[in-house]
Amino acid sequence: MNLKTEAEKFMMNSETLTTKKALEKSQKRDDLINSEILSKIQSIYSLPVPDLIFQAQSIHREYHDPNRVQFCTLSSIKTGACPEDCHYCPQSARYKTDIEVHSLLSKEVVIEQAKEAKSQGSTRFCMGASWRDLPEGKDFDSVVELIQSVKSLDLEVCCTLGMVNKDQAQKLAEAGLHTYNHNIDTSPEFYSEIISTRTYDERIETLQNIHQAGIKMCSGGIVGMGESSEDRQRFLAVLASMNPYPDSVPINALVPVEGTPLEKQQIIDPLELVRMVATARIVMPKAMIRLSAGRRSLSDEAQAFCFVAGANSIHTGEKLLTTPNAGINRDHELMNKLGMQTLEKARL
Ligand code: SF4
Repeated sequence: MNLKTEAEKFMMNSETLTTKKALEKSQKRDDLINSEILSKIQSIYSLPVPDLIFQAQSIHREYHDPNRVQFCTLSSIKTGACPEDCHYCPQSARYKTDIEVHSLLSKEVVIEQAKEAKSQGSTRFCMGASWRDLPEGKDFDSVVELIQSVKSLDLEVCCTLGMVNKDQAQKLAEAGLHTYNHNIDTSPEFYSEIISTRTYDERIETLQNIHQAGIKMCSGGIVGMGESSEDRQRFLAVLASMNPYPDSVPINALVPVEGTPLEKQQIIDPLELVRMVATARIVMPKAMIRLSAGRRSLSDEAQAFCFVAGANSIHTGEKLLTTPNAGINRDHELMNKLGMQTLEKARL
């Protein structure tokens, strides 16, 4: 299949979605937010840091082992040529970036990666593909086979493959998928500044399909894309208002990539990340809070601060999909320095 051509075809059909986006932009999406949860977030997010951390750490200790961090490895099983226009993403076919585009990796390659991840301490293996929607047919069958094979290595299997419908979610559940990731990315109000090719509601619908199929939900977003503090609070409020809230919440810091519309964005102050993690921990106490992209630019001290604030998972590996990540040796050194240990399995 000519990936570029498929992407271009989709772009020609995206006008309807752009109109939907324009409608979304004009409304404040209070229907997605529980007002009590939002008020709570508003009152805690700006607390003096010692008070915020004290609250977050107290809650963290009630629900989790504060000295353990789960290592997750993320593999890009299909990279680039994506028809979407997410402004932060070098995999969009609309931007000129220097990523290495490839179609679906073979089962042998993925299994080797998963074994390597496990030998380096990961207990979760996440497979990401740059599809708008999970395709039917041959690719779907290959994904099912990948899920079964990775699961047989006694790893938690997670996938992030774009939007999925009810029927697909059911089949993924039957294949043994543990968790599906589909980020909401940001607040409903800021969302249209970042993506115009799929709506916020479509993202929520995929999460509902996943939950209804009995698969664990992973959803989070990215900070540092130019959003306001209010947007960050409303983003967390949408997640915390879900019933149930996601089992897993990745908090990413934008890694500005040359060629993308956000290439000139300033890297976020790590203390903002700490506030996000602490607030997420307080309002979603049982969730695994995962420090994801952007960790490479964090000092050891900033990462330690995030763990104290309630983060209990990191994404490991040399790359996070396409952006550079802290290496596995550095992660093990950090754990040793902090006297912390890796978590065997998330207790979800
Ligand atoms: S974030 Fe996902 S959907 Fe958006 S452009 Fe990148 S690969 Fe495509």
